[in-house]
Amino acid sequence: MTKEQAQTKPDSRIRGSSRGSTLGSSILGRIGNTPLVRLERIAQGLDGITLLAKAEWTNPGGSIKDRAAASMVRDAMDRGLLANGKTLLDATSGNTGIAYAMLGAALDFPVRLVMPTNVSLERKRIVRAYGATVEWTDPDQGSDGAIRRAREMAAGEPENYFYCDQYSNNANWQAHYRTTAPEIWQQTEGQITHFIAGLGTSGTFIGTTRRLKEFHPGLVAISFQPDGPFHGLEGMKHMPTAIVPAIYDPQLADRNIEIETEAAYAMAKRLAREEGLLVGISAAAGVVASLRVAEEEAAEGRRAVIVTVLADSADKYLSERFWEEE
Ligand code: PMP
Repeated sequence: MTKEQAQTKPDSRIRGSSRGSTLGSSILGRIGNTPLVRLERIAQGLDGITLLAKAEWTNPGGSIKDRAAASMVRDAMDRGLLANGKTLLDATSGNTGIAYAMLGAALDFPVRLVMPTNVSLERKRIVRAYGATVEWTDPDQGSDGAIRRAREMAAGEPENYFYCDQYSNNANWQAHYRTTAPEIWQQTEGQITHFIAGLGTSGTFIGTTRRLKEFHPGLVAISFQPDGPFHGLEGMKHMPTAIVPAIYDPQLADRNIEIETEAAYAMAKRLAREEGLLVGISAAAGVVASLRVAEEEAAEGRRAVIVTVLADSADKYLSERFWEEE
């Protein structure tokens, strides 16, 4: 086979995981189809309001980013971009890195992640546990510093790296267009009125909203982001001051809400103590945004079925001090 043919031949690693058996499921088969949970106590007293959330920590890598990573890896393999021992390279604040590392282990390709040194110890340990290697960048430069370094590395050694570039990769938002949105539509039996999600790469918001608006053009789509450049909403971007992802489309949201870190911390504790849901900070921020919208709708006497995303669990944030504070 010529190199040319090798590069266009679909990669068998992506499909060959059953190795002759159809028993059980592969890691890829375990991604998606997450439960939709009802937040009953948080929405108590709000007549006509149903608050729902996708439990994305139930994905095998523990976050919603499994969907995007699997979609981008599958696309790269289908196009022969991960052939010839190439290493997958990307900048990540954590969850995408964990998902790439898991997929690299399961599907047998090397993974190199570029991350600021201030990502939580838990995240560092998890990616190393899966066997990925890490290039560390200056924490003062945040996730944009990691993006700039990944670009340099990819440009310097194009023969060794497949630069996945989750911020520009259409297979990122398409994962949510193909899976997250149809799941929400089915699980709400078409009754969803509002979809609310935060902006990191923006893949979740863009992909899910595009598809949901096809199902229901009257759907109200609301994006949220941190209220300033220095914030504790890990995984989220403050768009006015960040490198704006190429896949982001600011026209798609009907409305954008700014969330304060303190409000998200307080909601993370409420969700743990009132709903028994131990979720991450961006997840809690999504519930803060949802509750604000719910209160407005209830005040107007309108019925609403509001859906947000619980991107990950609290596991990776348990060392944060806010859990202990009054
Ligand atoms: N929440 C967390 C905890 C994340 O790590 C991410 C990914 N950066 C997101 C939300 C946002 O997802 P997206 O990249 O699809 O905008």
